[in-house]
Amino acid sequence: MSASDTSPECDPATGHPRPPRREFKARGSFVIRCEGCNLPKLNCLCPYQVKAESHAQVWLLTHPLEHYKPTNTGRLIGDVLAQTQVFTWYRTAPDAQLTALLADPRYAPFVIFPDDQPDYADRVVGMDAVHSAKRESRIPVFIILDGTWRQARRMFRKSAYLDGLPVLPLRTERETRYRLRKPASKAHLCTAEVAIELLRQGGDDNAAAVLDDYFDVFNDSYAASRFYKKIAEPTEAMTRLLARQAD
Ligand SMILES: [Zn+2]
Repeated sequence: MSASDTSPECDPATGHPRPPRREFKARGSFVIRCEGCNLPKLNCLCPYQVKAESHAQVWLLTHPLEHYKPTNTGRLIGDVLAQTQVFTWYRTAPDAQLTALLADPRYAPFVIFPDDQPDYADRVVGMDAVHSAKRESRIPVFIILDGTWRQARRMFRKSAYLDGLPVLPLRTERETRYRLRKPASKAHLCTAEVAIELLRQGGDDNAAAVLDDYFDVFNDSYAASRFYKKIAEPTEAMTRLLARQAD
């Protein structure tokens, strides 16, 4: 192993270089960003960060290319739910901490994935399994594969350590409100929206409501900043979050 293999800039499993932190050159690359929320300072998200309690937890398995994209919504979940865990996905080596957590009987983990292929039909469960886990005093965990559709499919197929877990498809009529990337379909929810719907269906209504408002503020703030527009009047979601902070 050469010295470069152990550098933090390399994937520990393959030795391949990791994407550099600043590689992402989106529109607005030269905008001054807030160090707290990584949004353009013009419409910073920090004043609207409100924590919420939930029974269920969200663990993100994030594709390495997704991590540093400022438009990623997975990070919003951790801002609201303090117990959120974020793991980087590598094909060859599972995260040691994730492997340990998956073996911990306190948790009832579910991989969130559509049930559109027959070869894992025997692993597919419904939301009733989440409620059963709660009744057994276990902590339901939604493992969300955070990446593009293609990346998520690859992560699902190439991660042997997920093969023993139940698969929970998200069934919802919700259409995406995400404005920062163009979805292939209105039915394709972004990562934060997936978490919101899972929390709501799992009975964590308050946490879902806070995250939904926080997602709206992120969406509106980011979209406005792309046009160098400052949001002058607080939106309804902003007003609700500020009121919660005052409580
Ligand atoms: Zn900020």
